[in-house]
Amino acid sequence: MTGIAAISVRELRGVGPKLAEKLADYGIREIEDLLFHLPLRYQDRTRVTPIAAAREGVDLVLEGEVKVSDIVYGKRRSLVARIQDGSGTLTLRFFHFSAAQKNNLRPGTRLRCFGQVRRGGNGLEMYHPEYRQIETTDRELDETLTPIYPTTAGIGQNQWRNLCRQAIVYLKRDQPRELLPVTKYQAMGLTDALIYLHSPPPNAALELLREGAHPAQLQLALEELVAHNLSLHRLRQQHQREGAPALSASPEALMPLLANLGFELTAAQQRVAAEIAKDLAQPWPMLRLLQGDVGSGKTVIAACAALQAIANGYQVAIMAPTEILAEQHWRSFSSWFEPLGIQIDWLTGRLKGKKRKQTSERIAAGETALVVGTHALFQDDVEFAKLGLVIVDEQHRFGVHQRLALTEKTRPELGRAHQLVMTATPIPRTLSMVAYADLDCSIIDELPPGRLPVSTVLIDSNRRDQVVERVANACGEGRQAYWVCTLIEESDLLQAQAAEAVAAQLREQLPQLEIGLIHGRMKPLEKEAAMAAFKAGNTALLVATTVIEVGVDVPNASLMIIENPERLGLAQLHQLRGRVGRGSAASHCVLLYQTPLSANGKARLTVLRESSDGFVIAEKDLQLRGPGEVLGTRQTGLMEFRVAQLPAHAHLLDQVQVVASNIIDAHPELLEPLIKRWTGSSSEFAKV
Ligand code: ADP
Ligand code: MG
Repeated sequence: MTGIAAISVRELRGVGPKLAEKLADYGIREIEDLLFHLPLRYQDRTRVTPIAAAREGVDLVLEGEVKVSDIVYGKRRSLVARIQDGSGTLTLRFFHFSAAQKNNLRPGTRLRCFGQVRRGGNGLEMYHPEYRQIETTDRELDETLTPIYPTTAGIGQNQWRNLCRQAIVYLKRDQPRELLPVTKYQAMGLTDALIYLHSPPPNAALELLREGAHPAQLQLALEELVAHNLSLHRLRQQHQREGAPALSASPEALMPLLANLGFELTAAQQRVAAEIAKDLAQPWPMLRLLQGDVGSGKTVIAACAALQAIANGYQVAIMAPTEILAEQHWRSFSSWFEPLGIQIDWLTGRLKGKKRKQTSERIAAGETALVVGTHALFQDDVEFAKLGLVIVDEQHRFGVHQRLALTEKTRPELGRAHQLVMTATPIPRTLSMVAYADLDCSIIDELPPGRLPVSTVLIDSNRRDQVVERVANACGEGRQAYWVCTLIEESDLLQAQAAEAVAAQLREQLPQLEIGLIHGRMKPLEKEAAMAAFKAGNTALLVATTVIEVGVDVPNASLMIIENPERLGLAQLHQLRGRVGRGSAASHCVLLYQTPLSANGKARLTVLRESSDGFVIAEKDLQLRGPGEVLGTRQTGLMEFRVAQLPAHAHLLDQVQVVASNIIDAHPELLEPLIKRWTGSSSEFAKV
């Protein structure tokens, strides 16, 4: 390493051991790292706007002379000052203020304020602006737009600005290496792009910058996405260098399973099954993502893969995200595999004491061929004798490293286990190219024959009574229904209480119906009983929280009411809706929304009414909510880029692939520097 990639941030003025340590938490050790810590957004403090020209909701600098100031006793006590310039007047309002502040705002004082203007009862107002007293001759304004850096506690904006300003001085002296082979996005060169983004000139196109569409951003975004792609590529190569058991495919072994299914695999299922079978036969670990819309029949594909591993004398672990789903899989797999004389076990958090010990022992001794469970399967006390395949269902919320950890549960000399990740939440292609570049992808793009689409209606909650009547009619005719209560609160307790209240109310309104209840606060046995009663048709209506979101399969249920659907993401609603439409009866979904519904809310629900294609819905969801929400990885930071934004930069992805392949083939020496530059030392990817 040479140049600014080799100069420690300790060289900068004001950086002592303490600050250096804080910077290291951001992965910033050298001056070059600092330069790649890019602003999130900008403020324009380069010019003074006349009060009359102030636009609402935009940060701006205003100047004026205080005409009056006083403490006002309205609903809340506030300090109010009216300032005036040649063009108009503006009210400054402070709800928290000191005596000194009141004195500062005496009439005749000239102020420069910075903040957002809003329209109040008395014309234009600014709440709690930043302000300072100025002389009439004071013309000093910022020369560039003011960058706002991403930060958590510990380092203030002024500190970031100061550090980055110093780093720019180094940058001008000693330019960093261009690491990308020339591309059409390199309009300005790396150094100029960095300088521009840390200190855009006053005339910079703020709109473009806000949208991430400025050429400087595009160029850096491309480089960042390439670096990200390469890091996944490297991870995948490391993974493939490890051995795995070659599980040969034999059509005969699958015969007894397929013959007893009672249906033929669809063409899509056959294709996907073949892709998986081929992977499993290789002596390196499979890492494959199986995507298929709800109801497309992923479980049976998992069964085929499992059988291939078992036929080769290896064990299989199937992991579901919830107890309910683990339970359901255990039933399906038992019904398929027990007739074949295959030993199946289940292991979830609720298996305790002696029973758990016995199960663990059977797994360790290799007596169990297939274990279905929750993440409890991967606790320390569970050791597999001969794990050949791990299947993770409905679980795309894992980070890369968590995915890998799952395959290490076997004796090291056997190599890694193969891994199949199944998800029913279709992942937009744009996103999977980025988030799952380390996985191969199989897609079931066809539903089993005879499925009727679920007809979806939007109904305003004022008409709740009509909906209740509809439930009464449907259940009266022997059909079954779900009533889903949504709450955005993360709290299980609140969700449970809401569901209990709804159940109580419906029991009152519909005394003739057997009404079940299921929520996350119930004990596993209670949940299981509630599910079993519904499956058996003993309860006609099941009131549920979103715990039933994934996987649950009750074909006789043909009506679903979702209360307050506006609170959920589209993909999640699509998942929920997928619980009906599994049988032969025409199914309906009622989205019982709360009024008033925002225009955006209405648009979102309309997407759902008009499409039953999970991929279309997922693309919309990505546009409307962003990748963090769609992947559920906001907390893990998995998809946090410095410059790149999705879907705004999705149009770069094709080029990303081209450039990344070119680097791998023709410039392998650039791979490590690129990854280091963009993923820093704090990154998940750097830890490999
Ligand atoms: P998902 O992909 O949502 O996990 P499942 O595997 O639960 O879907 O399958 C949904 C239902 O469709 C199950 O009842 C399953 O037995 C059935 N099924 C799967 N494949 C077919 C097929 N090729 N033809 C008919 N029914 C099928
Ligand atoms: Mg499923």
